[in-house]
Amino acid sequence: MSIKLKVLGGGLEVGRSGFLIDSGDKVILDYGIKLTPKGTEYPLLPNGKIDAAIISHAHLDHSGQLPHLFKDSRFLSYMTSPTLEIAKILWHDSLHIAGMEGIDASFSKQEIIRTERFTFAVNYKKDINITDNIKLQFSDAGHILGSAIVKLTVGDKILVYTGDFKEEETRLHSGADLSKIKKCDYLIIESTYGDRDHPPRKELEKRFVEDIQDVLDRGGIALISAFAVGRSQEIADILYEYRLDTDIYFDGMCQEAAITYIKNPNFLRKPKFLKKALERLIWVKNLKMRKAALKKPCVIITTSGMLQGGPVQFYLRELYNDKNSKLFLTGYQVKDTPGRILLDSGKINIDGIMVEPKIGYEKYDFSAHAGRKELLSIINRLDPEKVILVHGDSEVIEKFGKDLEEDGFETYNPNIGEEIIL
Ligand SMILES: [Zn+2]
Ligand SMILES: [Zn+2]
Repeated sequence: MSIKLKVLGGGLEVGRSGFLIDSGDKVILDYGIKLTPKGTEYPLLPNGKIDAAIISHAHLDHSGQLPHLFKDSRFLSYMTSPTLEIAKILWHDSLHIAGMEGIDASFSKQEIIRTERFTFAVNYKKDINITDNIKLQFSDAGHILGSAIVKLTVGDKILVYTGDFKEEETRLHSGADLSKIKKCDYLIIESTYGDRDHPPRKELEKRFVEDIQDVLDRGGIALISAFAVGRSQEIADILYEYRLDTDIYFDGMCQEAAITYIKNPNFLRKPKFLKKALERLIWVKNLKMRKAALKKPCVIITTSGMLQGGPVQFYLRELYNDKNSKLFLTGYQVKDTPGRILLDSGKINIDGIMVEPKIGYEKYDFSAHAGRKELLSIINRLDPEKVILVHGDSEVIEKFGKDLEEDGFETYNPNIGEEIIL
């Protein structure tokens, strides 16, 4: 049986992940979007009739465009139940934003309802026959709530798609569980950090909280920009452990995501601790509360994580000239996002003008992705016949691919639209 992989998106880039596995049966692995300052970029449309879609986790770069496929199709999609819960929040939010900006959304409420109706929730470590010839099994990916590593058994071949994963334990998750995956024939692996390792988590957390304390001590506001799903909750968890003696505001879509986290304790490492951490925060409900937060030194955890939208923009407009305050970026900054532009050029767009802000800023590497050592370790353990590198900046993927070739792995770095015969 020949198996073809077509890259619909997420080749030599971070964003709009989408892959088509065609073995006669056609299966989609992830179908996300990419948010850029110029607008939203979508994955290619798959040709022909789809038999199934699998979503590794809820982040929009993996799930964001799935409802579009349900305009007139009737196949089933598979994901964990927390993934569906969070994705639904994000899909509705995408519609809401499109409405506010007067942009045509690529799907409507109707398609979200259809997507939900045709979605089958799958638990970790359970085999599911998704077509006559293809079996699916999820393992915990340790990335965000409900995130999964995908194992497909296609005839006598095993294909593993990592989605986004982290094997190292974090505050909220126990790390990817690869106990049910011993070896595979083909490995499609994220390469976000193919060029570097992350600093030790515990030291990073301590330095982060000390830095926040310094900001408070000099009378400033610690503005923490964090991803709505995962990172915001993790930051709350850290601040609770250190018992910072100040008001901590929690603003944006991180609130809805947090409720989903609390509702799914079985998918968390220490659910009780996280619940207490979230209860200790001041949940911002309206503009009045937002303005009140700016009146005295405090901590604000808010979205979006790459400064592309969300309440962080309101706070930045008020604080960008305050040298006592500091902006904390807490995750990966995709190319061309305002967060990345700030780090690279020292400038930020305030009301349409690029300015050099007086507010301090710094990126803390709280990554939920595998670092280079972890990536190499999993590739060596699964010992695949072919490695396909995806979900990384082109320079990172090309360098990482060369290193793997030198180690004797047949490695591919496909671009969007490319097809590989496995
Ligand atoms: Zn992700
Ligand atoms: Zn991703």
